[in-house]
Amino acid sequence: VDAQPLTVVSNRLPVELHRNREGLAVRPSSGGLVGAMSPILRDRGGTWVGWPGCSVDGDDWTAPLEAFAQQSGYSLEPVNLSQADIDAYYAGFANSVLWPLFHGFSRLCEFRPEFWKRYLDVNRRFALRLARSKEVGSHVWIHDYHLIHVGKMLRTAKMDLERLGFFLHIPFPAVDLCRRMPWMHQIVDALLAYDLVGFQTPQDLHNFLGCVAHCMPHCEIERGRTSAVLDVGHRRLRAEAFPIGTDFDDFSERASRPEVAARAEALQRELGPYDILLGVDRLDYTKGLIHRLEALEVALERYPSLRERVVLYQLVVPSREKVGAYASLKDELERTVGRICGRFSTRKWSPIRYRYGRVDRVELGAMYRQARAALVTPLRDGMNLVAKEYVASQVDANGVLVLSEFAGAAGQLADGALLTNPYDTEATAETIRRAVEMGADERASRMAMLREVVRETDVYWWAERFVDRMEQPLDKRSVAE
Ligand code: UDP
Repeated sequence: VDAQPLTVVSNRLPVELHRNREGLAVRPSSGGLVGAMSPILRDRGGTWVGWPGCSVDGDDWTAPLEAFAQQSGYSLEPVNLSQADIDAYYAGFANSVLWPLFHGFSRLCEFRPEFWKRYLDVNRRFALRLARSKEVGSHVWIHDYHLIHVGKMLRTAKMDLERLGFFLHIPFPAVDLCRRMPWMHQIVDALLAYDLVGFQTPQDLHNFLGCVAHCMPHCEIERGRTSAVLDVGHRRLRAEAFPIGTDFDDFSERASRPEVAARAEALQRELGPYDILLGVDRLDYTKGLIHRLEALEVALERYPSLRERVVLYQLVVPSREKVGAYASLKDELERTVGRICGRFSTRKWSPIRYRYGRVDRVELGAMYRQARAALVTPLRDGMNLVAKEYVASQVDANGVLVLSEFAGAAGQLADGALLTNPYDTEATAETIRRAVEMGADERASRMAMLREVVRETDVYWWAERFVDRMEQPLDKRSVAE
């Protein structure tokens, strides 16, 4: 079968364009999506459309972009965004309406009509860019909440598309929550323009179908547990759950390297002879950072044996500093760390080591490899890749994954992880104690189970399954059980 070239569309390109002393340059960025899509794009050929992270006006990017295409086997199409776009479309509608609402934080939503208008404007610009480009083929895969409307706008532009897919990386809210958004009907309607709509979990799929039933009572829905076929009258489409994975082999192989082992030992020396509890999170209210610290506080209070025995190494990665709800979180976090350290620290030991910044892959691998337990306790998360990266990096299989039941990953990792409800501080404190006190045999057998799942459902499995599904004609498929 001849594989068609693929077009991938996401808010950010897989590279950053920037100007340096020698002129214009293309710098690759790392990240799960880039790793997953690059091999498929290289095999089939294709194009990636997105924002390059800087203004591309006024410069001739042809040469650096062509050099990138030569080297990577696929081309890039930058879409320019102005500061006003970034404020109202990205910081505004995407991150002050859709992000909080879809994660269940509707009180943080700013339902401002100018955000919505700019969101449609920018989505239309992406669609026009696709419609005008010679590079764009007839199989298009659009990613995430920033670009929900692009598909519908491509259909309106009567682009000759054979297959149009969309994947939502964040949760999809239940109907009662979604209804608070003034533009719910338009968002649901836009999702129905695709041939395939992908979600992280069966619960997200279920929530979406509930919203479709609410907004479009005449839409016929044939439901399975992980997929559904929808008949909107003039056409049919498929909706399905595809839990995203991580690059297992890459994390596992890196964690086994001597340089990572050396760095892991250095980290242990730096923190002292204590069991390392690890937190790695973007600074985001969905990550449950304050709840996690409070659970640690209760654990130290209740179980004195944990004092001078554990240290929480918490890495917080800067994020969305221009969005109002994020700035105040940093202060609150630092105050809470200070309070707990003030309360429990002794002359030789402090319960929390807080670090604000980014780390490279070697450092991250060392942290994952050395941690006795990872505390992955978001209040809500589409999937949570940190949980899977921790598992992939646990080459010595002596760590424990403490995982929130509200992370998308909980559905796949329930057998090996210790699941917890992050809103239940007492229970989370007890789970932390259990993780620390777990014997080596149980740790090894749980981690072996986790490694199996994370390896089998890695990011390549995820991307290939999505593209396969997107390209199967609908009449030949039945609903998966
Ligand atoms: N990460 C990073 N820089 C760091 C630490 C972590 O880029 O200094 C990565 C981490 O490896 C993971 C991602 O950030 O791939 C976080 O993904 P996750 O799904 O856990 O949460 P998100 O930030 O997408 O909400």
